[in-house]
Amino acid sequence: MAVSVTFVGCGDAFGSGGRFNTCIMVEDGGLRFTIDFGASSMVALNKLEIAPNSIDAVLLTHLHGDHFGGLPFLLLDAMLGARRETPLTIAGPKGVEARVDQAMEALFPGSGVMQPKFPLIYVELEIGRDNEVLDLTVTPFAAKHTPQTNPTALRVGVGDKIVTYSGDGEFTPDLCAASQGADLFIAECYFHDTPVKGHMSHIDIRNHGEDFGAKRMVLTHLGPAMLAVRDEVAEECAEDGLVIQL
Ligand SMILES: [Zn+2]
Ligand SMILES: [Zn+2]
Repeated sequence: MAVSVTFVGCGDAFGSGGRFNTCIMVEDGGLRFTIDFGASSMVALNKLEIAPNSIDAVLLTHLHGDHFGGLPFLLLDAMLGARRETPLTIAGPKGVEARVDQAMEALFPGSGVMQPKFPLIYVELEIGRDNEVLDLTVTPFAAKHTPQTNPTALRVGVGDKIVTYSGDGEFTPDLCAASQGADLFIAECYFHDTPVKGHMSHIDIRNHGEDFGAKRMVLTHLGPAMLAVRDEVAEECAEDGLVIQL
């Protein structure tokens, strides 16, 4: 079965280059899910005319606002405007449900009394093992990023394809394990020639491109310095709206 990957949003946290926060939509014909759902993801989905109700599951790499902050908007829309009836699964790192609830209460005070009329299922993903989420096999690897976000890279088996997303985080050997043999490896590349704590830069991509062992690699989460050279680097870079067929 063909798998398609749509970069609904591939930007950094601050809207550099006018790009939306991280939201990567994957579908295999039967199932449609996103990896991450950043603060601006509802706007980005609507811009691409993708109905939020059509998303069966959201997988989260970590609990930073540019990667999960759109969920309160998605949930409120599902309960009010869009009148969702089909189940929604939210799978993420340790503490995901409590953190989404806190974000919901912070952004829409009083919304906690609302009960969704659709099944809302939370799954806490265990690091280092294969987690079954609907028809997907999701394997999280520990990432080196702000510890309070419970950061992971996700290796996702969808149909007969493997999609790995680094999430945010510095280069680690674990990341190579996550990306090995993947049909698509989506790698964050926030900075260009500056090594920086908690993120990868293009220095890491140059040094470790071969070690990742993926069939195809696309760079994402580009900051201003990377955006300025994205047409000059050898690697493929994501754009909002880019669709890749696997
Ligand atoms: Zn980020
Ligand atoms: Zn982050």
